[in-house]
Amino acid sequence: HNKALPNAAPDRDYAKIKEREEAAAALASVRQQLGKTYLPLINGDRVNATNTVNSVNPSNPTEVIGTIGLMSVEQADQAIAAAKSALTQWRTTPAGDRANLLRKAGELMEQRRHELSAWMVLEVGKPLRECDAEISEGIDFCRYYADEMERLNSGVNYDVAGETNRYHYQPRGITVVISPWNFPFAIPVGMTVASLVAGNCTLLKPAEVSSVIAAKFAEILVEAGIPSGVFQYVPCKGSSVGSHLVKHPDVNTIVFTGSQEVGCQIYAEAAILQPGQKHLKKVIAEMGGKNAVIVDESADLDPAVAGVVQSAFGYSGQKCSACSRVIVLEPVYETFVNRLVEATRSLNVGVAEQPSTQVGPVIDANARDRIQGYVAKGKAEAELVLEMAVPETGYFIGPTIFSNVKPDAAIAQEEIFGPVLSVIRAKDFDEALEIANGTNFALTGGLYSRTPSHIDRAYAEFEVGNLYINRGITGAIVARQPFGGFKLSGVGSKAGGPDYLLQFLEPRHVSENV
Ligand code: NAP
Repeated sequence: HNKALPNAAPDRDYAKIKEREEAAAALASVRQQLGKTYLPLINGDRVNATNTVNSVNPSNPTEVIGTIGLMSVEQADQAIAAAKSALTQWRTTPAGDRANLLRKAGELMEQRRHELSAWMVLEVGKPLRECDAEISEGIDFCRYYADEMERLNSGVNYDVAGETNRYHYQPRGITVVISPWNFPFAIPVGMTVASLVAGNCTLLKPAEVSSVIAAKFAEILVEAGIPSGVFQYVPCKGSSVGSHLVKHPDVNTIVFTGSQEVGCQIYAEAAILQPGQKHLKKVIAEMGGKNAVIVDESADLDPAVAGVVQSAFGYSGQKCSACSRVIVLEPVYETFVNRLVEATRSLNVGVAEQPSTQVGPVIDANARDRIQGYVAKGKAEAELVLEMAVPETGYFIGPTIFSNVKPDAAIAQEEIFGPVLSVIRAKDFDEALEIANGTNFALTGGLYSRTPSHIDRAYAEFEVGNLYINRGITGAIVARQPFGGFKLSGVGSKAGGPDYLLQFLEPRHVSENV
């Protein structure tokens, strides 16, 4: 039975002049709206904040995209109290009505697609095409989780003669969503709407540097008719107020996507029973990766080179699914590396808002410095074969490739989260698989091969949540490539897949003699 989403949102085709003109007009219009203030939305009101922070354009950090009001600890407690009072009504709102609210939100996203993409290009430095695909993903999450909730809502019937046995789901309660900046729209949208449609009151704490685009999503939910207190937009400092939300005794579920370090901390904090807490919390944590693509001696090198370049350098390597290791078998090693370097050299590196840009900036100065640290380490432990030049202003790191990297080198083991690719040599397929599986992560992986026995072994032995064969390893589509990893890449079911909503629901069973 084919479960692919029948009404998946198509991306815009920028080969068409009309689409390009609309995108340019949206960018110009958004530029007129820069520098506004975005306040927390608590119990339906925009509340004043004592502390604020500027969100800037990574391509040109002097350009302030918006000023974010940061919620205080006291306001966090008020928001949880508001969620608690709104819960009775929301949990009893029919699932079909909740689902229709998501569908409405999806329609509003479609109507505002160019504008939302423009905010994203400017706030996180992501090139337009990738922003547009992210809007499609956000819409798909709304449509898919709406359908999924209606499917689950029918429950399961285990009736026998003289006895009804009904299995059904109820909401878990209050959810805190903590999102990263690298998919500043699709990821918070997916986590938030999944929680909401399942009947939970939901607080969204976005990453600080992508709080404006999250505020646009909050506007959409309000316009779609989300009741006060059911959804609250709560920008705040993660390490202090975010952590306070995690520890709050009235929170039932924490759904996090971000780094392994923070994910592990949240997992530990949520496990501690707080005074007054009457339940155990559930943590869904999607974390990092150190994803490998294996290129064997039978691979068609044309798609292999193109797929690796796209997977490694798309959004400057700042995707949890990005390829950061390519493991190449001895017979094709030199040819592949030469072609990889030439193909990468042809990428346009520049400001994200320029339509010809393929690789934009990295998110901020901290990221740039951290990645530069890894490039320095790489120079000490491997052979630098490409380091591309970058524009002078903005937080740029040029695509960088190291060859003859040892499988246990720091650049081959630690998540760099930037445009830095390690090429590793393997003598045979056994060794390639062993290297691929030899990290703490298990998120995405890929194989380019025309050898059926290698493909069969990858199916069985390549330890990743999402394996891609003879294609790039990024760009998972809702209800087509349900997405998520295991090992230290995360805990929880795959986003955009059939088990995802179950994490926001509590199963109950009622047996009645008749
Ligand atoms: P991050 O630094 O872990 O931050 C993620 C979120 O956690 C932010 O909203 C942050 O808030 C908040 N936070 C920080 N410390 C906290 C604490 N002590 N308690 C509660 N919340 C806290 O990650 P990032 O830099 O935004 O994102 C990049 C990472 O995300 C990479 O490791 C990437 O692999 C991973 N990722 C994984 C997936 C997946 O599906 N597996 C998808 C995308 C990204 P502040 O912004 O206020 O610090």
